[in-house]
Amino acid sequence: MSLSTSKRNFLFARISARNPVRPPWALKESEFIDLCTRCDECEKQCPVNVIRIGDGGYPEIDFSNSGCDFCQVCVDVCKSGALSHQQPQAFNLVASIDDSCFSERGVICRSCAEVCDKGAISFKQVVGGISHLIMNTKSCNGCGECVSICPATAIKIEHRSDTEKAG
Ligand code: SF4
Ligand code: SF4
Ligand code: SF4
Repeated sequence: MSLSTSKRNFLFARISARNPVRPPWALKESEFIDLCTRCDECEKQCPVNVIRIGDGGYPEIDFSNSGCDFCQVCVDVCKSGALSHQQPQAFNLVASIDDSCFSERGVICRSCAEVCDKGAISFKQVVGGISHLIMNTKSCNGCGECVSICPATAIKIEHRSDTEKAG
């Protein structure tokens, strides 16, 4: 469904303020909004249900129940070019962990590290027997697998700055 220029500009301004996470291999936000036809195919076909339909009918990533497997099914079914195999990386995202993390309070928990295929999360023993969580942001690919597994809901996935890339 195509949009008038004024409606497109209004939608773009409103959505940009929220800065949602688009499905992997999405073009930059302004180009994504121009190209995405809101056909919902990426949302319907994602095998792990990590895509939902968000503001304005555009697909967004929601890591609250699962992470992205990088299977590329969403890109394969996207006929508009809004998701493209030509993009250099799937996401420019990074996990951040706040101080509600159990390990910061002396409770043994390694759930996030156990699901992180990139080895981005490790623990360092500090004085008093408490383990301090170490996040290697360069290794994090923003897959979001650690989000729903965290019993303390301490993990958020955030946009990296435009110049910062995952290693
Ligand atoms: S790459 Fe696969 S798991 Fe990730 S959002 Fe696309 S369809 Fe879903
Ligand atoms: S498959 Fe492509 S065009 Fe369709 S909703 Fe998803 S991103 Fe938009
Ligand atoms: S988002 Fe993925 S890569 Fe990054 S820390 Fe979490 S599980 Fe590891």
